[in-house]
Amino acid sequence: MRWTQALLNTLRDAPQDAEIISHKLMIRAGMLRKLGGGLYTYMPLGIRALRKVEAIVREEMERAGAQETLFPILQPAELWKQSGRWETMGPGMFRLKDRKDAWYVLAPTAEEAFTALAKNEISSYRQLPCIIYQMQDKFRDEIRPRFGLIRGKEFLMKDAYSFDADEAGADVSYKKMYDAYVRIFKRVGLNVTPVEADTGDIGGNFSHEFMVFAASGEDGILSCDACGYAANQERAERIASPLPYTEIAGVAEEVATPDQHACEEVAKFSGTPVNQIVKSLVMLADKKPVMVLVPGDRELNPLKLRRLLNGAKIEEADEATVLQVAGPCGSIGPVGVTLSVYADLALKGVADVVVGANKEGYHLQHVALDRDATVIAYEDLVTVTEGDICPKCGKPLVIRRGTEVGQCFKLGTKYSEAFNATYLDETGAPRILTMGCYGIGVSRTLQAIVEQSNDENGIIWPAAVAPYQVALLILDPDNPEVVQKAEQLAEALESKGIDVFIDDRAERPGVKFKDADLIGFPVRVVAGAKGFAKGGFEVRRRTEKESTIVAPEVAAETVQSLLA
Ligand code: ATP
Ligand code: MG
Repeated sequence: MRWTQALLNTLRDAPQDAEIISHKLMIRAGMLRKLGGGLYTYMPLGIRALRKVEAIVREEMERAGAQETLFPILQPAELWKQSGRWETMGPGMFRLKDRKDAWYVLAPTAEEAFTALAKNEISSYRQLPCIIYQMQDKFRDEIRPRFGLIRGKEFLMKDAYSFDADEAGADVSYKKMYDAYVRIFKRVGLNVTPVEADTGDIGGNFSHEFMVFAASGEDGILSCDACGYAANQERAERIASPLPYTEIAGVAEEVATPDQHACEEVAKFSGTPVNQIVKSLVMLADKKPVMVLVPGDRELNPLKLRRLLNGAKIEEADEATVLQVAGPCGSIGPVGVTLSVYADLALKGVADVVVGANKEGYHLQHVALDRDATVIAYEDLVTVTEGDICPKCGKPLVIRRGTEVGQCFKLGTKYSEAFNATYLDETGAPRILTMGCYGIGVSRTLQAIVEQSNDENGIIWPAAVAPYQVALLILDPDNPEVVQKAEQLAEALESKGIDVFIDDRAERPGVKFKDADLIGFPVRVVAGAKGFAKGGFEVRRRTEKESTIVAPEVAAETVQSLLA
């Protein structure tokens, strides 16, 4: 391709709304243009890079035995009603009507459609295992679309679904997809960390998220540098360090704490360490109020409570409910309540803590939890933070920000049951299919590569996904000898399967150098009269400062070896 024939404009400045480096660079390098909030057009260079990521994903899916399909994006509401997600998806799902007033969905994911297909197409154990996938746009009405391709309203996802005879089979499929993901991210040049993730209400199953560490990441990931444990903050566990307040200091007695509500306020007012104050929360578990206790400096992780209560839907109770079942908000505690009380493990054995007195303006001090209240269970219930103890090896955990580029999920029979997707086993008896689902944000992955691989001059594309692998800059486009040599090299490279972008513009060399660095071609070759006087092309990798002179006869081989 020649620049003079390409639809390509580089920009000196990034648009105002581009907050992170990859978004800025994708726009400045002429790869992306904005159509609307969360909606981006791929320019010719951008789509080439995306197609290369797609090709790698496809190759690895096929290698793992998955077969490609393509489902409609526009899906009838009935499908989503059958799984119950027409209700539970909420406003994040785009819904629309046709001219006959029938409701449709712009699919945000495709478990329903794939399961409905499997129900009809898979009838015998002989067809199992079966893994099918598609490469298809998804739509989500994100609360905060931002960062270009990282969080769009429309984005490209590869989604795969596995169907197996049983749990053991599903484990094998899961492993195949997990391994394929590791290979995919390695091949596209992206450093990812698989982390344990929450599985929501699908108890007993598990999930991994493939995370890219980035300061702009919206997920917190707790990891242990000693043993490699890594988990999403939603999911992370800890070894709870017991609190020191285990000596009985007397009977529980009321103390006046006028206008002091938050644990920090009570701590300050009473000169007590904040973790000696117990934070009491009334939560609704499937609409039924329960009380949860955590140390005053910690936050409840509702997902852990949900797991403890067998997948019950957890919500915060409103003020009126709290008043009815305990006391005025900010002054509640477990002493004397008739609610079921659950407490964080760190509180086990505490005998001298402060709790709300269920009376406005009062707390109770010297409370021994097991003496003065009835705690049903002590469990790890808080959100893990930096410095907490690794559940695997006992060393402190660190927290990093990250963005999810892919996820593997063992679904069990949640969808196959909803759709009654069964097969006949060896004895001819009907059995329910066991499923897994596996998503990669292909467009997000593309931009994540840029977020990870850039410098002050622009993008540094890994050769495997660069829009073109080589930039060939013709510094003297009016000099026929220079042009001829450049064209010969371009031909030689292309015959080796290497794609070349020729900058044949009548621009100053400095402009061409800057643009080549900004766009981030892995190898830059300069063809100019000056260089030829010194012996040939000037060749350098994007990551190197200095060029070397390479004789025209060996230039193609040299470039090829630089790309390898
Ligand atoms: P996130 O937590 O980042 O919102 P998710 O867990 O909701 O992602 P999944 O439903 O697991 O996403 O979708 C599979 C993949 O699709 C994700 O791993 C991610 O790479 C990608 N993805 C999800 N939402 C978006 C989006 N709005 N824009 C671009 N890619 C997305
Ligand atoms: Mg996910």
